[in-house]
Amino acid sequence: TLYWAKADGKGRWTLFDPERNAHRVTRQALSSTLRPALDRGEFALEYQPIVGLDDETLHGAEALVRWRHPRFGTLGPDRFIGLAEENGAIVPLGRWVLEASCRQARRWLDDRPHNPVYVSVNVAVRQVWDSDLVADVERILDDTGLPPGLLQLELTESAVMGSAGRPLQALQALSEMGVRIAIDDFGTGYSNLAYLSRLPVRALKLDGTFVRGFRTARHENPADETIVAALVQLAHELGLTVTAECVEGREQAERLRGIGCDTGQGYYYARPMPAPSLTAWLSRAST
Ligand code: C2E
Ligand code: CA
Ligand code: CA
Repeated sequence: TLYWAKADGKGRWTLFDPERNAHRVTRQALSSTLRPALDRGEFALEYQPIVGLDDETLHGAEALVRWRHPRFGTLGPDRFIGLAEENGAIVPLGRWVLEASCRQARRWLDDRPHNPVYVSVNVAVRQVWDSDLVADVERILDDTGLPPGLLQLELTESAVMGSAGRPLQALQALSEMGVRIAIDDFGTGYSNLAYLSRLPVRALKLDGTFVRGFRTARHENPADETIVAALVQLAHELGLTVTAECVEGREQAERLRGIGCDTGQGYYYARPMPAPSLTAWLSRAST
């Protein structure tokens, strides 16, 4: 229901939608409490396995942030990452995510030194521009003792396309350190592989929309599979590995394997889970 209300403070009558207003109030409340929530330790990480498509062994795990909100329950990143990017809280939050996931990856390495798995961490555009990302990563690797090769950073195409100056320098410095750079949600942006191949990028994460198209690929849209096959082949020729996101079924996994895709991630293998569950997963995988 919409109400007429004198809401604009200038004596003008405007339409007032209580639902939209509630949404706006919640957004504001969340936005302004991000930083104190970080200090209170309300954020937590879950990890989702990244699995070899040929033998289903664990290669790595993506760290995904959650907000254990005292009033609203657990909030997914889609509810607050955008807000954090807008108000700058993404910089300290992103730093916390990096630190916590590297510490966790180091524990996994200590538990199973012969089967190392990497941790893959999402990095927002603003982190590449605003914070001293390179210095942060250097310090965190130093503090945790995690080998740089066991850290992968996921950046979106928009974070690296047209990157000159600071972002490019950051990518180069990170890559020289031995950190892996992956392009997240690949295929949703400009998808300029020729350009990406000139950047110090090691891996592509194929966006879920490609894999979703597979469900009907055989009967209705074989083009999808053809396109992904060509992309994977080209990526390999450029020296990039390819991870498929959103693998939800066995048939998808098999087709992706057939196409030569390297690793997969999705509900078919496992949902994101708290660190102790992944630790259990790890020990099961190694027996
Ligand atoms: P993303 O990087 O594309 O992460 C994958 C998302 O897909 C996750 O959602 C994951 O739970 C979900 N997913 C995984 N497998 C499947 C599947 O088989 N089917 C479907 N339908 N979905 C699947 P989540 O955890 O809600 O994260 C959403 C987005 O929030 C992430 O998308 C990422 O862009 C962002 N995000 C998460 N953690 C962080 C963080 O620490 N920093 C930053 N900057 N962004 C983050
Ligand atoms: Ca990601
Ligand atoms: Ca993604």
